[in-house]
Amino acid sequence: MPTTITWFGHNCWSIETAGKTILLDPFLDESPSAPVKAADVKADFILQSHGHFDHISDTVAIAKRTGATVLANFEVGQWLHKQGVAEDKLVFMNPGGGVKQPFGHVKFTIAHHSSSMPDGSYGGVPGGFLLTLGDARVYFACDTALFLDMKLIGAGGLDLAVVPIGDLFTMGPEDSLDAIKMLNPQRVAPCHYNTWPPIEQDAAAWARQVRSHTAAEPIVLAAGDKITL
Ligand SMILES: [Zn+2]
Repeated sequence: MPTTITWFGHNCWSIETAGKTILLDPFLDESPSAPVKAADVKADFILQSHGHFDHISDTVAIAKRTGATVLANFEVGQWLHKQGVAEDKLVFMNPGGGVKQPFGHVKFTIAHHSSSMPDGSYGGVPGGFLLTLGDARVYFACDTALFLDMKLIGAGGLDLAVVPIGDLFTMGPEDSLDAIKMLNPQRVAPCHYNTWPPIEQDAAAWARQVRSHTAAEPIVLAAGDKITL
């Protein structure tokens, strides 16, 4: 069965692979661009990049309803446990660390951003995810600035990279071109833009820039669209 990756707007993605559903950064009920509600999504696993509300607002409810296992940094994991997510349903990670899961391998990569929980408590450091799903390698940069170590993340080859282009809170379209050059993925999808006016971007113009300045094939999705690996 092929792996499919569906965009739920912002940095929320649903990955169907090896008979499992993996949800990344559940932000649905309060998201202006989400095509689905938190009560309607499936999840066997949840990947949590950091503690900001626009990434975690539906995590507790979905984890409790589905019994999904949540992979998060140590502090975010502890906060989720305090909100009632069972300890045996949490995988505590930190940057540089990887772990094997029933659907593949998950590595928590560095990201330059901040992380605090919705109630203001400490959220550890943010991260991205490098996933090995069968033969495919997929990188979700999540919320981050451009950083030179992206070269290392791309060194093993990437079938798909997902990068933020919204600017203001993360890298913008221009820096994303440098990120794509370093990551050198076969395909690249943008995220974390057009959710609200401050992060509005012209994705079609971005795609033209990607085509002329990098070797990657840009994939601009509408919320609800999917990529098949
Ligand atoms: Zn964000």
